[in-house]
Amino acid sequence: MFKMKACGLSDVGLARAHNEDCFGIEPEQNLAVVADGMGGHSHGEVASRIAVQSIRDSVVRSLTNHNSGAERPPHTQILEAAVRAAHQKVLGAIREDGSLYGMGTTVVGFLLSGDVAAVANVGDSRVYRVRDGSLELLTQDHTWVNEQVVAGFLSAEQARVHPLKNVITRALGGETDVKIDLHEVDVRTGDLYLLCSDGLTTMLSDPDIQRALFYHPNLEAACRLLVDEANARGGLDNVTVVLIEIEDGQAS
Ligand code: CA
Repeated sequence: MFKMKACGLSDVGLARAHNEDCFGIEPEQNLAVVADGMGGHSHGEVASRIAVQSIRDSVVRSLTNHNSGAERPPHTQILEAAVRAAHQKVLGAIREDGSLYGMGTTVVGFLLSGDVAAVANVGDSRVYRVRDGSLELLTQDHTWVNEQVVAGFLSAEQARVHPLKNVITRALGGETDVKIDLHEVDVRTGDLYLLCSDGLTTMLSDPDIQRALFYHPNLEAACRLLVDEANARGGLDNVTVVLIEIEDGQAS
């Protein structure tokens, strides 16, 4: 059995008037979520907040109110249902208020249970793992440029600085149905998981992120360092990071 220690930080950056990113952590449920909203005016803020709140509520409800007589669905299913419900919430808000039309949000979610974590992704926010000092990307961006990387037309580094890098192909609040990438990852004591918006990954390369995370006195300092590094390189977008450290549940 493992448990997680987590902390997060979100910053408007140096170029934007609003912070349309949002994150949420539910330590009791071993849940963390990052969302990066989009839309005219400040509507991206609305979409990302609806999504994060909705996912928190859904997961808390599933894990606490569950009828003990029935078998609880696996965590992957709980997270998937929560992301799907968040999509419906965003669509519902647009239906209620037409001025919100066009808003949407990316989302990444991490839900730990025992020695397995469910990871969900829609859009271009990311989940990374640092294990034994090396950084590994666990999610695929749903972007036009990443499709070109997968097809072999662009390198990952070319994609990172490509002028069309912001064109995302999936979002909550987009089409009627939403396709969610779901993974189950085995966790180990000492693993570090990073959930982040693209404001981090367009400013910092993977080696930059790995270097920043290599020596961290604690999670708070590491979050601060990543945000400061993104801003030091221009801070062109909102930047949000959540760091999760896996601990042995028996300890303490
Ligand atoms: Ca962004």
